Amino acid sequence: MRYSKMLLPTSKEVPAEAEVISHQLLLRGGFIRKLTAGVYSYLPLGLMALRKVTAIVREEMKRAGAQEILMPMVQPGDLWMESGRWQHYGPELLRFRDRNERECCLSPTQEEVATDLARRELLSYRQLPVNIYHIQTKYRDEMRPRFGLMRCREFIMKDAYSFDADDEGAARSYENMRVAYNRIFARLGLDYRMVEADSGSIGGSYSHEFMVLADAGEDTLVLCRDCSYAANVEKAMVAPVPAPAAGVPLEELRKVATPGTKKVATVAEFLKVPPQQIIKTMIYQIERDGPEPREFVAALVRGDREVQTVKLKNLLGANEVNSLTEDQVWEFLRLPVGFIGPVNLPLRVVADSEVMAMVNAVAGANEKGFHYQGVNPERDFSVQVTGDLRQIAAGDRCPHCGGLLHFREGIEVGHIFKLGARYSEAMNATFQDREGRQRPFIMGCYGIGVSRILAACIEQNHDRNGIIFPMPLAPVQVILLNLGLEDEALTSAAEELYQALLAAGVEVLFDDRDERPGAKFKDADLLGIPLRLTVGRTFKQEGLVELRERKSGETTLLPVDQVVAAVQARIRRELA
Ligand code: ATP
Ligand code: MG
Repeated sequence: MRYSKMLLPTSKEVPAEAEVISHQLLLRGGFIRKLTAGVYSYLPLGLMALRKVTAIVREEMKRAGAQEILMPMVQPGDLWMESGRWQHYGPELLRFRDRNERECCLSPTQEEVATDLARRELLSYRQLPVNIYHIQTKYRDEMRPRFGLMRCREFIMKDAYSFDADDEGAARSYENMRVAYNRIFARLGLDYRMVEADSGSIGGSYSHEFMVLADAGEDTLVLCRDCSYAANVEKAMVAPVPAPAAGVPLEELRKVATPGTKKVATVAEFLKVPPQQIIKTMIYQIERDGPEPREFVAALVRGDREVQTVKLKNLLGANEVNSLTEDQVWEFLRLPVGFIGPVNLPLRVVADSEVMAMVNAVAGANEKGFHYQGVNPERDFSVQVTGDLRQIAAGDRCPHCGGLLHFREGIEVGHIFKLGARYSEAMNATFQDREGRQRPFIMGCYGIGVSRILAACIEQNHDRNGIIFPMPLAPVQVILLNLGLEDEALTSAAEELYQALLAAGVEVLFDDRDERPGAKFKDADLLGIPLRLTVGRTFKQEGLVELRERKSGETTLLPVDQVVAAVQARIRRELA
């Protein structure tokens, strides 16, 4: 690969549109180009790096016994109607009609197609278990595509689907993928954590996410310092709530004027009570299946806590939970935000367990400028659902061991789900069991954000000069600089070295451009290629080639006939 002939448009300018470092460096290094919001072309070096990811994914999927197929990107809407997701999958699903007015969509994921394939082809328990996967372009009409390859509308995913005869088999398939995923992310050289996760719109009962630790991450992880507990903050359980203090006399309920106190902090100050003594009441609109698909609910948490809407959604079995503006709450319910409370509230009330342990609390009186004091759950208001509703927060203890929790930002690069019979039952996907009965498949699904991995890797591996690719993900292993284009001896030595590296199977980019040395060094650093070879001044003076490691900056001078072996040894060491 000769740099002079490559489409490799590097630039010094930091593109204004790029907020995060991976996006900036992918653009500056000429790895990708934007076509339109959240839709990118991969230029040669970008594609090479992407293929490094897919090669490792393929090897490990193969090792795990999964079979590669390729499913279509255009899907019939009918299948999504069968699974029930046509209604629920929001505007991220890009829908359209073909010339015969048939509903279609672009694949955001493939459960329906995989389940359809299974019901047609897997007829007997003898054929099970099966794990099929593909690496394919996905389309999700994300509301906010951003951060370059991190959140695209069009992106590349590896998705796998397992079909088993029973729960035990499905658990084995899940475990098999869990092991494979850990191998994949370790081999990619990423600093990552596997965390307990919410199942989201895919549905199903049980899931883990694989998170690359990086400040630019859009997810928050909760990690225990003392044990292995790790969870997405959406899911992180709260340690059991202590029982209410016994023997505290219950005060009577009384309405008090609290003018201008809309926020918990101002109510607390006005009434001289701690925020923990206040019940915070939040109004949401939920959507779900059934005769009354839309409903307003009130969610209660302690004043110093926040509602975790994913937990609320799961507690209520809802498909969606939407927040409302102050104006909407007034328009739809005639309730004054800031003064809402559960006493005499004509809505379904969902309370965090902690609220149920409160005694003589403060809550809004559903009247502007008034609160109640002496509010006691059960006596003064009824609750339809209680449970773990609040977001875990700093100071909370590990639900497993009581250890200290801490928070980290992460980028989700993989997600594995136990689906159970969620899709097979809805789509009537069955096989014949040993006794001759038809039974639904027990399924799992397993995704990897192949293109997002590139961004995540760069977030973790860069300095102010550019990318520092770990060897397994580097588009090429070596960049070879010829610094004496006008000098015949240098040029022919560089040329020979290039050929020798190629012959030895080393992946090498040969910078044979007519550029100043400074520009070549800068580009080599920007591109993040792990090893740099320079044929320049030291070669002319002493016959030595300089080998430099991008990561450590360490340089070694080598006689030209030792270069190939030295390079091969480093590559082997870093791929081991
Ligand atoms: P997110 O919460 O980040 O939107 P998700 O839960 O919707 O992710 P999955 O449906 O589990 O994602 O998809 C599998 C993998 O595909 C994710 O783990 C992620 O790495 C990747 N992925 C999802 N959405 C995008 C996107 N918009 N751009 C790039 N990669 C994505
Ligand atoms: Mg998503």
